[in-house]
Amino acid sequence: MNRIKISGSHYEQLKSHLFPGDGLEAVAIAICGRSIHGNNHTLLVQDIVPVPYDVCFERRGDIVHWPTDFINPLIEKAADQSLAIIKMHCHPVHFEQFSVLDDESDHTLFTSIHAWLDDDMPHASCIMLPDGRLFGRFFFNDMSTDVAHEITVAGSDIIKWNYDIGNSFIEHGAQTRNLQAFGKGTTALLNNLKIGVVGCSGTGSPTIEMLTRLGVGTLVLVDPDHIDTVNLNRITGSTKQDAVQKMAKVQVMQRTIDSIGIGTRTIVFQSNIVNVDVVKELADCDILFGCVDSIEGRHFLNLISSYYLVPLFDLGVRFDADGKGGIDSINGTVHYVQPHGSSLLSREVYDPERLRAESILRVDPEEYERNGYLAKAGESNPAVISVNTQIAATAINELLARIHPYRNDPNSESETVRIGISNGVSYMEETTDTCGYFCKQTGKGDTVPLLGSISL
Ligand SMILES: [Zn+2]
Repeated sequence: MNRIKISGSHYEQLKSHLFPGDGLEAVAIAICGRSIHGNNHTLLVQDIVPVPYDVCFERRGDIVHWPTDFINPLIEKAADQSLAIIKMHCHPVHFEQFSVLDDESDHTLFTSIHAWLDDDMPHASCIMLPDGRLFGRFFFNDMSTDVAHEITVAGSDIIKWNYDIGNSFIEHGAQTRNLQAFGKGTTALLNNLKIGVVGCSGTGSPTIEMLTRLGVGTLVLVDPDHIDTVNLNRITGSTKQDAVQKMAKVQVMQRTIDSIGIGTRTIVFQSNIVNVDVVKELADCDILFGCVDSIEGRHFLNLISSYYLVPLFDLGVRFDADGKGGIDSINGTVHYVQPHGSSLLSREVYDPERLRAESILRVDPEEYERNGYLAKAGESNPAVISVNTQIAATAINELLARIHPYRNDPNSESETVRIGISNGVSYMEETTDTCGYFCKQTGKGDTVPLLGSISL
């Protein structure tokens, strides 16, 4: 499958350059990283380089002539760093296909790009229509072409245009009530989504249950632990027998999903997230849910989100008890992280010192013990099913709002949702900062080592 992914901020930049309001065609070049996973080849937009209107030889409502040597320094950069190039132009008159002129100019352009790079990797050409929709085609080394099957925008709204004629494998009858709420388009989208859930415990298990019953097509589940008696107070689907047999949490989730029996596909890893196979499978997802307590888990999820342009929902619950049956406070937070925007780091959900402590603890527990000065890594906290489920439901409603906008206010105004259960308040926050560290990783895709991390 040929896919293209772009962050919300790059998409907005592209849209405003291609549609400046003069009704004339315009061009921009997207520089992209790559993700290759099985048969999927995904181009990940790192940067948009607009071709200035005044360097174009001619701009009309149905034609644009631009100096192709403008692209030479970009091809050089692509050759140096094994990047891909997408030519993006607009059809202001809503012409929903490549024109004869497009065929000619694409043929010339991609012949020269392939001659220069000669790396057997595809590049692409896309058209944006006045309603913002993108469609496109891939050009391979032998100059054969194929449709871009999926184009995704990972912004405040999550948009996925699907140009692949695939059949849903979710049982139709089980979706009637979802259809009544969201209509055919969103129901089909849910069937077509691949969602990764990291952490299958307190907030993870109700999240998985809801995603399954909403008709999400494929779930990737990651958790290294097995069921313990202390988990029976909150993990959906877990039993005493599972605790006795030390069943893996991911296996219990898989069993529950299979017994629901509406066709959901599962890919499970009884593993920590710091694992090459896990990272590659999560990178191939459309959306990620972080249901973890660990700092390192959050950091890696944010890395995957940035490198591979996957929107991320991060769930957190803080339950402060005095240990004598009294409760000081209960708070929950859902962070929505879109690539090339703010991050869990810039929102101070975790700090670098504790990240360091956790990675030392994972790699070398003895070293961790010797360094008493290290910040404390995760410890066990109180956990209650109703609180976890409420936060999970909040995250799922955030997902639904972003694939099927239903709120009075724009999604950009609720990047963070805070729920104070003990003081009875909940509110949404807009996040306007961009993270200097994570923005530099936008769309890097496959690198050696993966995610630029020596642990992988
Ligand atoms: Zn055209």
